Amino acid sequence: MIKVITFDLDDTLWEVTPVLMRAENLLFDWLQTHCPAVMQRFSIRSLRAMRMELVKSRPDLVHRITEARHHALQTAMLRAGISEAAARQLADRAMEVFMAARHDVELFDEVEEVIAQLHGDYLLGVLTNGNADIYRLPLGRYFSFAFSAESLNSSKPMPLHFERTLEKTGARPEEIIHVGDHPEHDVAAAQRLGWYTIWLNRDQLDAIPGSQPSATIQRFAELPACIRQIELHAARHARP
Ligand SMILES: [Mg+2]
Repeated sequence: MIKVITFDLDDTLWEVTPVLMRAENLLFDWLQTHCPAVMQRFSIRSLRAMRMELVKSRPDLVHRITEARHHALQTAMLRAGISEAAARQLADRAMEVFMAARHDVELFDEVEEVIAQLHGDYLLGVLTNGNADIYRLPLGRYFSFAFSAESLNSSKPMPLHFERTLEKTGARPEEIIHVGDHPEHDVAAAQRLGWYTIWLNRDQLDAIPGSQPSATIQRFAELPACIRQIELHAARHARP
């Protein structure tokens, strides 16, 4: 019997690239107004390159992308001659602008309706590598728990997101379905732990070796029927 359904966020509940691009543009507009010294010295591209370099030199930040971005902004401000105290404050405010835009997402069709419906029958959770917080969105009211790479200091496909879910819910692996867009981070990772998996393959990509989802869907509207199929399979193979 299926008891728990977990969801990836980025590119599963919404498309993430346009959100990140808009958030970065808003961040740079904000910097232009409030920290012109930074924008005289850096371009969008060089700031991005600096952040990538920083993450390479600070492996402790690999899973903590919000902190990495904050740290990069603060470093850019210091290099532009802003004092340390002012840089910290400005970086805090800049990140508020960025994170507000990061949560300005447009859900894929049917997501709200399907999640609301599933909420009546299953415990719902979030397993994300990104820095979106489901509880900042109205949709958050349907979710009982959320694990992010930042909160765990670990990213899928490493097993910690899945292990924590087992601890949190007390469910057995065969009582859980994970839904996600990434064949390795979502499908293969959950499958290795014995979970059922549903691959949201919106662009009809080819499957990758080692990633064999229990089912594949293209649109969210297909999810309830797909879950019922898995329920039937689970019932036939249930342990006493
Ligand atoms: Mg994803």
